[in-house]
Amino acid sequence: MSDIRVRFAPSPTGFLHIGGLRTALYNYLYARKNNGKFILRIEDTDRTRYVDGAIENLIESLKWAGIDYDEGVFVEDGKIVEKGEDGPYIQSQRLDIYKKYVDELIESGKAYYCFCTKERLDSVREEQKIKGQIPRYDGLCREIPLEEAKKRIANGEEYVVRLKLPHNRDISFDDAVRGKVTINTNEMDDQVLMKSDGFPTYHMAVVVDDHLMGITDVVRGEEWLPSTPKHVYLYECFGWEAPTFVHLPTVLNKDRKKLSKRQGDVSVEDFRERGYLPEGLVNYLALVGWSPEDGEEIMEMKDLIEKFTFDRVGKAGGIFDKEKLDWVNSHYIKKYSLEEIAKLSIPYMVKSGLITEEEIKADEDKYLMLIDTVRDSLDRLEEVPEKVSFLFGDLEITEEAAIEELKKEQVPELIKAFKEELNSVEKIDMDFASGVMKKIQKATGIKGKNLYMPVRAAISGNVHGPELKNIICLLGKEEILKRLDEAENLR
Ligand code: GLU
Repeated sequence: MSDIRVRFAPSPTGFLHIGGLRTALYNYLYARKNNGKFILRIEDTDRTRYVDGAIENLIESLKWAGIDYDEGVFVEDGKIVEKGEDGPYIQSQRLDIYKKYVDELIESGKAYYCFCTKERLDSVREEQKIKGQIPRYDGLCREIPLEEAKKRIANGEEYVVRLKLPHNRDISFDDAVRGKVTINTNEMDDQVLMKSDGFPTYHMAVVVDDHLMGITDVVRGEEWLPSTPKHVYLYECFGWEAPTFVHLPTVLNKDRKKLSKRQGDVSVEDFRERGYLPEGLVNYLALVGWSPEDGEEIMEMKDLIEKFTFDRVGKAGGIFDKEKLDWVNSHYIKKYSLEEIAKLSIPYMVKSGLITEEEIKADEDKYLMLIDTVRDSLDRLEEVPEKVSFLFGDLEITEEAAIEELKKEQVPELIKAFKEELNSVEKIDMDFASGVMKKIQKATGIKGKNLYMPVRAAISGNVHGPELKNIICLLGKEEILKRLDEAENLR
């Protein structure tokens, strides 16, 4: 066991964003590769953004993705439970801890009480904007003597606690992806550490928790990079060693803009619903911003763990390419057992109205064959109904190439021979389906493309597609006879 301890620290504000899943994944891979510990902490100090059920949802998404963790917040028998030595792991349950450390900063003069009203802060900001300055707190309360501040609090005045940044000091840290980052305190704000409701801000809570939970590496999205100097300064104030920082490039769409809800799917839930397999999504996400040294692209979790290192995480944003995701996912659709893919497809099929659950149960072998027939053409499970729909109900032939095939002169003879074969049996089985084309060939002397293309066009409406024998078997005698009649009528 190494000393490495990392954490994923989402805020329960809704569904897990795909970028959040990638952050969790990289933390997980790093922990597992190095025999470290991975912790799930819930950062719920912003009560205005709290969404009921979000914690359960986050945990469910991680579980689905195959990302497990060692300590923190879990769901067991539908209940939220916590495990580990360093709890509580839900920030809203740690308020007394934060208060203790905030008080320590106040007493040592590293933080101060601020009584400015929202109206005053707004007008200061407005003025600064007009003057073309960066809006920030003007420091009015910095010099209030502590005794006086305490009296004002005793009198019931509302207050927040702010960090008292030193003037004109460079704060530096080494980021594992970005390299050395330096920011001067003159460009920073006296960050609020504790709000008037007694809740800490993210910045205060994250530093206290990462320290108390023994986090060695803070791995998070690069949107937190500008906040890190404040955190580094807080570590210094407390006399604590800062962890290593690893800021991951943002997940971008093809226009290099942040992936946002407005452009479609962004939550893990969305991707799951569309029929991406967890292995496919995880494999692809690992590649958004990282690549292994050997250039491999198809990697299961165990391969990712083996190959993952932060030094191959890129600085530039990772582009989220849906086509590539589809390609990776299709690989896993082929790799799963047929039984699993068939089972996972049931909700999509039932929802489409093509088949009922009872019909599936009544002939499971037939259902397996149905899925087997199209599975190699799938990128996502949601496509199953559309791919198999030609096997259900009336066939309308619209494909230009199919219509062309059916105009060919040998077609009547082929149809006649096919009908004769069909009428010679009571019912179609796989034996019949596997042998019938040879028989038609024998009877007519027509072979190769001239034989297969028109038959395929007549019964499936397409000149390409899945195995002909599967199509024949799945359609059954009556349906094929009907389709052959209709094909004749098209001429
Ligand atoms: N709660 C923060 C978030 O929602 C976590 C940032 C961090 O990992 O420090 O992303």
